[in-house]
Amino acid sequence: MDDGFRTIIEPFRIHSVEPMRMLSRAERQERLAEVRYNLFALRADDVLIDLLTDSGTGAMSSEQWAAVQRGNEAYAGAPSWYRFEAAVKDLFPFRHILPTHQGRAAERILFSVVGGPGRVIPNNTHFDTTRANIEATGAEAVDLVILEGSQPRTEHPFKGNMDVAALESLLDERGDDVPLVMITITNNSGGGQPVSMANVRAVREVCNRYGKPLFLDACRFAENAWFIKTREPGYADVSVADIVREMASMADGMTMSAKKDPLANIGGWLAFNDDWLAEQCRNLQILTEGFRRTAGSPAVTSTRSR
Ligand SMILES: *Cc1c(COP(=O)(O)O)cnc(C)c1O
Repeated sequence: MDDGFRTIIEPFRIHSVEPMRMLSRAERQERLAEVRYNLFALRADDVLIDLLTDSGTGAMSSEQWAAVQRGNEAYAGAPSWYRFEAAVKDLFPFRHILPTHQGRAAERILFSVVGGPGRVIPNNTHFDTTRANIEATGAEAVDLVILEGSQPRTEHPFKGNMDVAALESLLDERGDDVPLVMITITNNSGGGQPVSMANVRAVREVCNRYGKPLFLDACRFAENAWFIKTREPGYADVSVADIVREMASMADGMTMSAKKDPLANIGGWLAFNDDWLAEQCRNLQILTEGFRRTAGSPAVTSTRSR
């Protein structure tokens, strides 16, 4: 920015225009009072700028919409399933990829198998649906974010980091009750704060020592990788895709919402290496999500050709 300003031209053309209704200030005040200030009770048509969630807010690309049309609905062995699997494995090369309709469906399947009364799942900060799916099984969801992560005024480049010492104490005290350790990148419920590669590596080492699998809640993996590239020493010249691959290489599995960084309007997946877990999870997947090779997901093109 040596000339003092810079024009950023977005590298895309807007293809479809969706009209929005603009209410007056007085009308908006009236609607808010009507729902007693509960934003979840508003009609979306009454909202001009929607800050309720980051979920499914991105416009899909022409390639993503085209992929919906190329989607093949064969119940087993659909070509779109193989495209989906290849796109996921390009960044997250886990042995088993189970498509789901959203991230929370992946969480429900995973924690139905590894959760249950007496179990404890540590995370930097559990996303609300993750916590709910863990608690619904009778297990306990424990947040172990670093101190700076809960202090809005403190400066720290990676406020989403997990408190590694707190994780070790938990594993010392209740190790037998912990089926897996989870890290959410970025730490969405903690203000979308990023997690450093060094922190994931340190957590990985602790997991190795205690013999625990490490799972990523990777909903905001691309943004987290961008923070690593711009803030963590040694990563400025590494591509975002390679930063994602390095992070994935330290994990044993992941849950994912395609409505987040894959910029799709629906979809998600559960992925991991463990064969026993695959057997258990596939049986649950058929009950609510469908046969695992049916999937055609717009996430395919967004993880690949954007
Ligand atoms: C959105 C999100 C989920 C849940 O995904 P859905 O597709 O909305 O069910 C889980 N974890 C994190 C970190 C998320 O951001």
